[in-house]
Amino acid sequence: MRVDDYVPIVGAEAIDNLRAVAEELKGRTVTNVNSTFVGGGVAELLKAIVPMMNALGLKADWKVITGDPGFFSVTKAFHNALHGTPSLITPEMLAIYEETNRRNAAEMDLSADFVFIHDPQPAMLVDFRKGGYWIWRCHIDISSPYAGVWPYLAGFVRKYDAAVVHMPEYARPDLGITQHIIPPSIDPLSEKNIDLPPEYVRDVLSKYDIDPDTPIITQVSRFDRLKDPVGVFKAYKMVKDAVGTLDVRGMFEKERYLVDVFRAVRERALVQLVLVGGSATDDPEGMKVYREVLRKSISDRNVHVLMLPPDAHREINAIQRGSTVLIQKSLKEGFGLTVTEGMWKGKPVIGGRTGGISRQIIDGETGYLVRSVTEAGEAMLHLLRNPEERVRLGIAAKEHVRKNYLVTRQVRDYLKVMAEGEKK
Ligand code: UDP
Repeated sequence: MRVDDYVPIVGAEAIDNLRAVAEELKGRTVTNVNSTFVGGGVAELLKAIVPMMNALGLKADWKVITGDPGFFSVTKAFHNALHGTPSLITPEMLAIYEETNRRNAAEMDLSADFVFIHDPQPAMLVDFRKGGYWIWRCHIDISSPYAGVWPYLAGFVRKYDAAVVHMPEYARPDLGITQHIIPPSIDPLSEKNIDLPPEYVRDVLSKYDIDPDTPIITQVSRFDRLKDPVGVFKAYKMVKDAVGTLDVRGMFEKERYLVDVFRAVRERALVQLVLVGGSATDDPEGMKVYREVLRKSISDRNVHVLMLPPDAHREINAIQRGSTVLIQKSLKEGFGLTVTEGMWKGKPVIGGRTGGISRQIIDGETGYLVRSVTEAGEAMLHLLRNPEERVRLGIAAKEHVRKNYLVTRQVRDYLKVMAEGEKK
């Protein structure tokens, strides 16, 4: 990681500002704790932030709490409840949560000058703090939680020096500690986001039996009900039915020749759906949802449900780049890094009108926001039919991400919070 490599992307001034803030904190130790090294947005963020802090002269590290499947079922129930989904939380579940946190605290060195605890899974570690400035970094939408979990969790969060949430709407009126608003970011130079040669993109698509010359609609997401993969499939079916009745020759100018050929040879769908997911070690529901999606879509050879390994960043990058339209039809979403990733690749992104997606996508300007399967299907169809619109949205989307959601900005924001904390 070389901070200077970001100059051509964000400009010299932004990097100078970053260095100036880091100067005050040189040599400070920073520990991050979350619940998985792979899968999901938090791991993605820490992979970029920790090396950048080190490159700026701090001493940052990243630790992961360990737990058995029972613990992760409990924290998944917490997660769902915090997102507002009715979930049963029993005293036995709280006992599992507390015991796991207690054990991890005993095994972990938490003596850094700054400790960032990410999300609810390790939140209770604060009970074992030994000095330092402690920040609870929340990556989920906690604005309208379901019943009991939040009051329980807030009991721990109040013991922190500060909390960081993604958006003003997520700040809680009942915390009584400083709350900072810092949206997440992506690393434009990571395997997930770096530019790729077009041949590689085509190779990856072909490897997974996806036709690079037929329009592709893609959602990249953990297989999680709140990401609504089944809703995406239903919207795709709407599109598929509609496309079948259209005069295709005007639709896909570039692909027209191929479409005609394919039609003559055998019946061929004019659109493909790709659902790319992986599993995260802290998400026990993934396989269940994956099988459900597979069952629904198995009879359609133009639907590709791919369960990729957790380190398939370059391939996911290629699939995003090779797609015609990207979708993230979440029903609830803390922020939605997959949206940021798609926008950075200059793609038209359709997003569920929820949480951080509504912040990233300015409807009609940097993508489309949808509330339902029908709206998602209509947006897909509209974008497939209008190549200029895809380009217009993609250009605006990329610029929006450059200005607001790159890692250099997020690290600068964190460093400011830390510098402020040190003065207290
Ligand atoms: N991701 C991945 N492989 C997958 C599914 C997702 O690498 O099979 C990545 C995705 O590219 C993104 C992150 O995991 O960087 C998901 O972050 P997001 O904020 O969209 O959702 P979360 O999983 O944190 O709810």
